[in-house]
Amino acid sequence: MAQWRSPARGQQTVPPGRRLFVFVILLLTAGTLLARRLGYKVGGNVVVRCRKGHLFTTIWIPGASLKAVRLGWARLQRCPVGKHWTLVTPVKDTDLSDEQRTQATGYHDVRIP
Ligand SMILES: [Zn+2]
Repeated sequence: MAQWRSPARGQQTVPPGRRLFVFVILLLTAGTLLARRLGYKVGGNVVVRCRKGHLFTTIWIPGASLKAVRLGWARLQRCPVGKHWTLVTPVKDTDLSDEQRTQATGYHDVRIP
């Protein structure tokens, strides 16, 4: 502990590695809150649309995914409707009609993030 308080190292009391970790967590949290504010229900079950227009429900947790390849806002994953690999993007709940919402909730891929 003593060396972190030495004048040569300034007032830094947190190891650099932990600072980066905290920064990444804050960034992911901020991203989730921002997306929620924009009307996307990320951080749980989310309605997504594939490149062919199929709608289905998936678990979308920013920063954590075992079954999909992250490409920024889009993800590469398997579409359970058309049974094909595709890019999917979240759909705003307010952009869905009742019919589309019912259709999307009828399809749910594997229940792991
Ligand atoms: Zn599809």
